[in-house]
Amino acid sequence: MKSKQQTAKNHPLSVSVVIPVYNEAENLPELLRRCLRTCNRLERPFELVLVDDGSSDGSRKLIQVAAEEIPGKVIGVLLNRNYGQHAAIMAGFEVAKGDVVVTLDADLQNPPEEIVPLVTKAEAGFDVVGTVRVPRRDSFFRRIASMMINKVVQKSTGIKMHDYGCMLRAYSRPIVDAMRQCHERSTFIPVLANTFARRTAEIEVRHQWRTKGESKYGLLKLVNLQFDLLTSMTTFPLRLLSVLGGIISALGVGFGVFLLAMRVIYGPEWAAGGVFTLFAVLFVFIGAQFLGMGLLGEYIGRIYSDVRARPRYFVEAVVGKSDMEGDLK
Ligand code: UDP
Ligand code: MG
Repeated sequence: MKSKQQTAKNHPLSVSVVIPVYNEAENLPELLRRCLRTCNRLERPFELVLVDDGSSDGSRKLIQVAAEEIPGKVIGVLLNRNYGQHAAIMAGFEVAKGDVVVTLDADLQNPPEEIVPLVTKAEAGFDVVGTVRVPRRDSFFRRIASMMINKVVQKSTGIKMHDYGCMLRAYSRPIVDAMRQCHERSTFIPVLANTFARRTAEIEVRHQWRTKGESKYGLLKLVNLQFDLLTSMTTFPLRLLSVLGGIISALGVGFGVFLLAMRVIYGPEWAAGGVFTLFAVLFVFIGAQFLGMGLLGEYIGRIYSDVRARPRYFVEAVVGKSDMEGDLK
């Protein structure tokens, strides 16, 4: 995959900013204003790709209007319903033409002004530029969830990034192209990107409390995200299952021998008392089985949905046109 990046040494890299939008009408005007101001300051060709993820408030209309009013700079990708943040970003990637693609949340928790240092860093030749939110302005519960996710991801990708949850990130063109080749349904973009990245960097960015609208991630959505993450990254839990099964079996055998020995030494009275212990052992086995079946089911469910190979999202319309020339499509 020959990218423009190699040939573009002499002219500035172009920048696409991809923003998933789901019921963010209150934030959109300010978001647009600040993004445009920041991008103009970049002095590079740029485009804003706003993906409407099936909003039911005025967001969709606002995006359409912005695409009309700011031609060449704002492109709206309108999905026909809600497919989730990561699917929406993938839809944005299909349209984005920039040499560097920045993703950003629409809720202004991450200040759009941070696009500048991100792009500068990406230009220094990094495939993926991640960010660390300091200080993090989210509820305690969210911070704990993030911490767990980060630990798991660090282990399984082997890339030590501190904040996988932060979507304010920059990706180079080859990485975006690689991600577009991935057709699995449940994706977690920062992790997917890192499986292709060679050189990664991290910068610190500011983080704000959400002032308007509400978080789209409730408890259930966060749990789903965790499963997506775990099973999309690795089949390690399956292996863990066998290991766990092995250990439990070994313990079971050991315990059996122990019981036998106690029976021989202390006579049948003692063994009758052990009936309850046997129950305990049984429960351990049953528990382990259920654990295993649940995990297997999780993978099978995912295989099922990938085999069905339904489109991950459906684009109803693309409004507006970028004035950035691209070599895609
Ligand atoms: N989002 C989306 N589709 C969804 C949920 C969220 O496009 O189904 C967008 C949302 O509009 C926002 C970003 O994803 O731009 C992050 O969402 P949110 O701020 O609610 O997440 P949090 O900051 O609580 O993690
Ligand atoms: Mg947010």
